[in-house]
Amino acid sequence: MDWNGKRVLVTGAGGFIGHHLVTFLKRRGYWVRGADLKYPEVTATDADEFLLLDLRKWENCLEASRGVGEVYALAADMGGMGFISNHHAQILHNNSLINIHTLEAARTNGIKRCLYTSSACIYPDYLQMNANVAPLKEENAYPAQPQDAYGWEKLIAERLCMHYREDYGLETRIVRFHNIFGPLGTWDGGREKAPAALCRKIAMAKLTGDPEVEIWGDGQQTRSFCYIDDCVKGLYKIMRSDYAQPLNLGQDRMVTIDELADMIAEIAGIRIVKEHVPGPQGVRGRNSDNTRLRQVLGWEPEISLEEGLRGTYAWIEKQVTAKLGKIVPLSARSVQPSAEQMVSVRKG
Ligand code: NAD
Repeated sequence: MDWNGKRVLVTGAGGFIGHHLVTFLKRRGYWVRGADLKYPEVTATDADEFLLLDLRKWENCLEASRGVGEVYALAADMGGMGFISNHHAQILHNNSLINIHTLEAARTNGIKRCLYTSSACIYPDYLQMNANVAPLKEENAYPAQPQDAYGWEKLIAERLCMHYREDYGLETRIVRFHNIFGPLGTWDGGREKAPAALCRKIAMAKLTGDPEVEIWGDGQQTRSFCYIDDCVKGLYKIMRSDYAQPLNLGQDRMVTIDELADMIAEIAGIRIVKEHVPGPQGVRGRNSDNTRLRQVLGWEPEISLEEGLRGTYAWIEKQVTAKLGKIVPLSARSVQPSAEQMVSVRKG
């Protein structure tokens, strides 16, 4: 790799995966520029340079990718099911602008490689109607029928990457993530995903002594979950590979959301009472088929769900404790909780 290839841009470097990726690349000797609307929220970035930029704007994308050899394109307006299923117009508008301008700026600046982070949300609704779903292969993407605007936007950006490669010779790589989780991810505020939301709710149950934990839907919907360390390793391997077609990046062990909650409760060391409530659930079942990933990379994610959840839960319990302070457990209260305490033990 030439000197320029050792200078990389990570967009979305203030977000969960981007922040971890910057650290991973720095450890491998890269000079890294991060770009995002915001700095990482919990720990400082390891980036050599960090630009606060709105990447919906063309001139900002041009500035972000100037003088680097490769771009990891992670910036996106996104969140868990609660956010994705309620902000279709915003997501389609913002992410389309980010993707179109990021790719065109990369071409203008003579970037050698650009890796785009797509999602399992591109897969058609009609293949994900049962909890016991067949794992999704890359070719299952068509005929297209993603459930949400988020999936459509990702699919269009995948096509854009392919056409930029064919028409302009920009080497593009396309990764379809399946539920990435780990420490330093969003864990409250409405954009958090299921593993982080469940860790938060179970940490709350532990701190308050109230065992009830809300689960959206009947808890029988299924997913696979991939730990962040495997994710950034996979991203790097795919960027370095010769494979230009979309590739799944995830685990292929499927669990129900109820099972996920039980695993986290066991790690927390408490007994929970699952309260199933109406809420956005996304598709009924989803799993990753890693056949092609194994063929292309000779590797697939290897960190177990239990191991990943242990680190994630410990981190989220710490955040919850720090945010809420010392809560008097229900069992230790001799009088009605004060209005202030009621606010702090509220579930969300
Ligand atoms: P994240 O929300 O933590 O990070 C995305 C970052 O993009 C945020 O820091 C946000 O501020 C930034 N961003 C949003 N709009 C921007 C703008 N206009 N200009 C500059 N920056 C902007 O999300 P993440 O989990 O780190 O996801 C990274 C990428 O992976 C995204 O493209 C996402 O769609 C994709 N993805 C993630 C998952 C997952 O499980 N986390 C699954 C599928 C796909």
